[in-house]
Amino acid sequence: MTTEKTNLLGLSVEKLAAFFESLGEKRFRAIQVLKWIHQNGVDDFAEMTNVSKALRQKLVEVAEVCAPEVLNQWDSADGTRKWLIEVSGGNAIETVYIPDGDRGTLCVSSQVGCSLDCSFCATGKQGFNRDLTAAEIIGQVWIACKSFGQLDPKGPRKVTNVVMMGMGEPLLNFDNVVDAMNLMMEDNAYGISKRRVTLSTSGVVPALDRLAAVTDVSLAISLHAPNDELRNELVPINKKYPIAVLLDSAKRYIENMPDTHRKMTIEYTLMREVNDRPEHAEQLAELLRDIPVKINLIPFNPFELSDYQRVSNNALRRFQQILLDKGYTVTVRTTRGDDIDAACGQLAGNVNDRTRRSERYRNAERPVRIVG
Ligand code: SAH
Ligand code: SF4
Repeated sequence: MTTEKTNLLGLSVEKLAAFFESLGEKRFRAIQVLKWIHQNGVDDFAEMTNVSKALRQKLVEVAEVCAPEVLNQWDSADGTRKWLIEVSGGNAIETVYIPDGDRGTLCVSSQVGCSLDCSFCATGKQGFNRDLTAAEIIGQVWIACKSFGQLDPKGPRKVTNVVMMGMGEPLLNFDNVVDAMNLMMEDNAYGISKRRVTLSTSGVVPALDRLAAVTDVSLAISLHAPNDELRNELVPINKKYPIAVLLDSAKRYIENMPDTHRKMTIEYTLMREVNDRPEHAEQLAELLRDIPVKINLIPFNPFELSDYQRVSNNALRRFQQILLDKGYTVTVRTTRGDDIDAACGQLAGNVNDRTRRSERYRNAERPVRIVG
């Protein structure tokens, strides 16, 4: 009888320490192995030379370091890099890296598909397939860092920021996402500061209420509308957890943070004549008064099966100006990587479908939304 090997890639420090204890080993082995995996990109126990030969032999029998497989990698002229990554069951996810000055942001997926069905989101339109494992989530960071040769946390970094803004709703895959984010921030793994790891949610309030107890990463709220009537249409989970309830929960999360200067990000995807009018901006300014926020405006990225249109440049500028005039910090997410079809957060389906679809999109030269 063969027993399944334990994949060490997605194990948090605590779980790895418990694993070594279960083998009758000391906990510090966990730190050694953690460094080999995440700081040296090693997935072969034979290379872990400061681990005794006997233990390495034992590890080969009971464990593995198994990252998801990269099916393809594309590089954009602007430095954006995209990976197509296979996850079990004939599914694939995409991970996108966006360099911007001395910052390099990795956009990471948490689920294959999404059950929340926001009306403007391609991932939602494809339905929910399954949660990614912690190994598949941190595996995206492992793959990116390895591809850039960023393996020494004290050396120069390519991946300085991670945003959980790829496919899926991270708070609906709570435990795996928390384990993976904690590995991103762990000094003996990637050592990324908690300010530079961002969880984006459309508003799963009970899970958000639980989040502060286990982590203090940065928070982004996908708001997209300044009133419940409109948000009910765009983000159906709003019917269950309306704006006031969501913002209260987000405020509690921010207030819980040890660092008093932190702000939450409000994401607002702008769709032409849907949520881009001056009165929407006015209402938004009123709604967010006294909440520590910075606002990120995202021009809608069109896709097949969607009737929405991208905001016009005039409407975008007008919307931004109203908020600026009220004293808000407002950024606009720019289009990046359009030559490699690098649309973060919009991807699902099996590998063949994906390839066909991205060819179609490339041919159509559609605009691309990317994290900025
Ligand atoms: N489920 C999470 C994280 C993934 S979506 C969430 O909703 O926050 C990441 C961001 O991309 C969200 O703000 C989402 O609303 C936005 N987004 C989704 N589809 C988009 C589209 N077609 N154009 C522009 N932004 C989009
Ligand atoms: Fe899911 Fe986020 Fe897309 Fe909504 S916007 S369907 S929550 S991935």
